[in-house]
Amino acid sequence: MIERYFLPLTRGRAEVAGLKDDAAVLQIPKGYELVVTSDTLNEGVHFLVGEAAGNIARKALRVNLSDLAAMGAKPLSYQLNIAFPHMLDEAWLAEFSAAMQEDNKAFDVFCSGGDTTSIKGGHLSISITALGLVPAGCAVRRNGAKLGDLIVVTGVIGDAYLGLKALQNSLNYEGAIGRYLMPCPRIRAVDIICEHANAAIDVSDGLLADVMHIAKASGVGAEINVDKLVFSKDVAHALDGNIMQVQDILTGGDDYELILAVSPVKLPILIRELKNIDLNPMVIGEFTSNISKPPVLKSKTHRIDVKLLGWQHFQ
Ligand SMILES: [Mg+2]
Repeated sequence: MIERYFLPLTRGRAEVAGLKDDAAVLQIPKGYELVVTSDTLNEGVHFLVGEAAGNIARKALRVNLSDLAAMGAKPLSYQLNIAFPHMLDEAWLAEFSAAMQEDNKAFDVFCSGGDTTSIKGGHLSISITALGLVPAGCAVRRNGAKLGDLIVVTGVIGDAYLGLKALQNSLNYEGAIGRYLMPCPRIRAVDIICEHANAAIDVSDGLLADVMHIAKASGVGAEINVDKLVFSKDVAHALDGNIMQVQDILTGGDDYELILAVSPVKLPILIRELKNIDLNPMVIGEFTSNISKPPVLKSKTHRIDVKLLGWQHFQ
């Protein structure tokens, strides 16, 4: 099983990956630091029961790569741990492995080892630890936002929320479903982020929660102008049809775009460079001195039910 389905994931580095040893031996280039992150996906919690093996493979890897991107790190390799609840299914493994191989190429990363086990009576569980590289001292942290920094998001959000809802209710929002099943970690943006952003995080908990993570770590407040949010076609359609509300966009997670804190001086070059790599960044607010409050929300066009947000303050 390992030879057929997991050896190809090492992309010719089986010796390095420890598949022929007890552990992997990885070289860190001089002048670089290792960035390490883990994320586990459990069947029925993080993906739907019976989800296609290829979708599970991609999501498991991509949510980890998104955390690397949020640190400004380029992917090096990953450790893959799978706990199977049942007898191994060859067709499932073949699909899982093929999807993983495609993503390995797409994001230039390889499997540096891991473990496969079986559990009795449980659910399928995939745990990945991703390793990334960043020039020493250049990792982008959550605590670097400065007063007056602008809040930039690298693309539209709300699609993952809509995608899950569409899957659960058989609604025809293919684009949003694709975004939910297959997030796009913003790896191509890491050089730009390292160069121009003071702080970063990926949108996994939801826009408001993740902006707050930066604000809290940085000791600043945040103000979001909801009218500056640009929506995808699917989300705009769902908003018009009352299938989702603006607060769902603010609180829904799993979009895996990046939220950046950027000084006004560096904003024009950051926006230009992100557009050069085909991203559609939007400036949605700024970090302020108003640290005693949750994010202040401003909007002239949207009615937002503050009670549903769980926040106390609204302007
Ligand atoms: Mg994250």
